[in-house]
Amino acid sequence: MSSEPKRIALLGATGSIGRQTIDIIRRHPELYRLVVVSAGSRVDDLASIAAEFRPRLAVIGNAELLPRLKSALEPLGIACAAGAEALADSVVADDIDMVVTATVGYSGLEPTINAIRAGKDIALANKETLVVAGDLVNALLADSPSRLYPIDSEHSAIAQCLEGEKPEHVRRLLITASGGPFRTWTREQIASATLADALRHPNWNMGRKITIDSATMLNKAFEIIEAHHLFGIESDRIDAVVHPQSIVHSMIEFTDGAIKAQLGVPDMRLPIAYAMGYNNRLAGVSEPLTLEAMSTLTFERPDTERFPCLTLARTALERRGNTACIINAANEIAVAAFLAEEIGFNDIYDIIVDTLEAMPYIANPAYADYVASNAEARTRAAEMVDKTKK
Ligand code: NAD
Ligand code: MG
Repeated sequence: MSSEPKRIALLGATGSIGRQTIDIIRRHPELYRLVVVSAGSRVDDLASIAAEFRPRLAVIGNAELLPRLKSALEPLGIACAAGAEALADSVVADDIDMVVTATVGYSGLEPTINAIRAGKDIALANKETLVVAGDLVNALLADSPSRLYPIDSEHSAIAQCLEGEKPEHVRRLLITASGGPFRTWTREQIASATLADALRHPNWNMGRKITIDSATMLNKAFEIIEAHHLFGIESDRIDAVVHPQSIVHSMIEFTDGAIKAQLGVPDMRLPIAYAMGYNNRLAGVSEPLTLEAMSTLTFERPDTERFPCLTLARTALERRGNTACIINAANEIAVAAFLAEEIGFNDIYDIIVDTLEAMPYIANPAYADYVASNAEARTRAAEMVDKTKK
């Protein structure tokens, strides 16, 4: 291990993953140094992180908040910038070794692409990047010294289980899902679920958008797409398995019938540290699992009648092209509307499907096509939200 701390650019420092990443950096200054931090709009939180860690640069997505950031940080000699372009530019400087992408949604795509083009290693929490444009990201990675390490707990588990194994021995990936807050609810109950119901995730404390995605199980569909792009396995060999305890983080079935799993307490700091350490283990990063916690591990088949969003993984991976980009864009608009209590829970799926039907298909999208599909799908989904509003 090199003696110099790894220099980190952290995108989305004020969020759930961002704060847990900060926690690791705070406890291990001998391993990590923050050189760039950014956030969307929580300017005061960003300023206090920057005041503590003294990065070279702090970037706020919402440009209206730049004066406030500057007044807090310029006296400390920390440069400040704002806006999506500044965010995308902030990851390419020579003094960055690794970019941790912990922003939510489509906003992660451009910075990740820039970081790969600049040869930076990536610790990727922002799964939407691979969902929207996994083929493009893989093509760029093939031409770059960058390596990409997944933070998502399921994909970290698969990466851990793959250590020492031959790819041709992998038969199937089994991606575990908690089932979310509506696992035991009937169709009728789910149809009238409130925002408060949907935000009550049984096992994980996460940002609001991914919490809703977990309730619809679109998060699991996204994780199947993410796994396909990360591990090069076709969708008919990737299954979701409902495991309400969130102790088994995912499994691999091998050709000889063996199944390997990674278990642990539900604590994202373990997969974050594993990714930041280039698939190495960091002692003491999470509490060990007790025998009591492992005494009941149950598994169920997911129910696509009650959770139709799960079927969108197959739709996306069979149709390919800009399909997943459209699904992601429509979902972001629909989830924002649900969070604003403008539409019902099941409207999220309907808006995604209707947007997909309304949009032109592009078989081999270039970057500009993803940008255009994302923008157009958002416009169409917003029109559907307007029509659906209660
Ligand atoms: P969050 O909402 O808690 O935090 C999001 C962060 O991104 C915040 O710092 C916010 O300021 C910033 N941000 C939001 N919009 C932005 C924009 N347009 N430009 C720049 N910054 C912006 O979200 P989270 O739960 O930390 O999730 C982050 C990502 O990690 C998501 O892609 C999510 O799917 C993934 N993920 C999260 C968890 C988890 O446990 N929270 C687990 C697995 C994967
Ligand atoms: Mg996950």
